[in-house]
Amino acid sequence: MLMIPEPVFSAQSTDWKRSLSESFRTIQELLEYCELDVNCVDQGSEAGFPVRVTKYYASLIEKGNPQDPLLLQVMPDSQENQRVEGYSLDAVGDISAMTVPGLIHKYHNRVLLTVTSACPVHCRYCFRRHFPYSDARLDTKVDSPVLNYLAAHTEINEVILSGGDPLMLSDRKLSELITRLNDIPHIRYLRFHSRLLSVLPDRVTDSFIQTLHQFNGKVTLVTHINHPEEISVLNQHAFKLLSKQGFQLFNQSVLLKGVNNNSNTLVKLSYKLFDSNITPYYLHKLDKVHGAAHFDLATDQTCKIYSLLLQSLPGYLVPKLVNELTGRLSKTPVQCI
Ligand SMILES: *Cc1c(COP(=O)(O)O)cnc(C)c1O
Ligand code: SF4
Repeated sequence: MLMIPEPVFSAQSTDWKRSLSESFRTIQELLEYCELDVNCVDQGSEAGFPVRVTKYYASLIEKGNPQDPLLLQVMPDSQENQRVEGYSLDAVGDISAMTVPGLIHKYHNRVLLTVTSACPVHCRYCFRRHFPYSDARLDTKVDSPVLNYLAAHTEINEVILSGGDPLMLSDRKLSELITRLNDIPHIRYLRFHSRLLSVLPDRVTDSFIQTLHQFNGKVTLVTHINHPEEISVLNQHAFKLLSKQGFQLFNQSVLLKGVNNNSNTLVKLSYKLFDSNITPYYLHKLDKVHGAAHFDLATDQTCKIYSLLLQSLPGYLVPKLVNELTGRLSKTPVQCI
């Protein structure tokens, strides 16, 4: 039985839902807020993937700068509509690896659950932007196929909650899921992959922390931060709070042209993560998903940046440079030399 520590944060558990409901949902709203002229940004149609940005994330965008690296991650671009050879709807083979609806079992001892289709921000480079969530609806009722699968596969020791963004679920829903996972003794590790942690810091409430403490094993949180400007005092406070509660924090980034494709930016990011008690984990090459080709970077440029990272950072702050390739049994390290 884990000790539940004294509450340390006083935010109400309903506040984050209100913040979320105040998100920007149109190009117009976002441009106005960023003090940008409609004509100075090369907008595309949203093509079934509408704009979505929390006010908090938008507040970190530099006003009047159409090239702001945070803005570029969330603003539709006309290049998204171009068909590019080699880019597909299911870039990483997730659909074929969906063993049970909502459960992706690609790697031997860890499975990924798509617990929701909802996200607090819509990232234009997202590899799941075309994911058929309606076919992946997760059912975690007692005796559901997902829970039966987890119970039957004793090689699985880690469950990864993903989506969409798993922290879009209410604490009550998370708590129900954790209770079910606690019934399966070989599930010893619970991991969250979440962009919400950094774009909606008021999600980290007392109730959330206590919900995480309900898990019988070890809890890991993987943030998705691509640029140092995405870290402010507010979310840094939330990260440190989680880390002090004994949760392990890692970060994964995607290498994105125009956003973070230079070593200075990535070095700064690693140090800022370190100062937030987050360890850099992965630096992903872009998944080749239709609509995201304009963010891609050639391998020689990627390797040039990575070799500068190795020279400028202590080894423990260098993220692993990886690719996710269909059919592989783990992420694939990018071979640079
Ligand atoms: C990335 C990923 C994981 C986790 O891989 P790690 O190398 O353990 O971080 C697990 N399952 C799927 C389907 C993934 O895409
Ligand atoms: S939060 Fe993650 S899943 Fe959601 S749009 Fe962004 S990259 Fe995709």
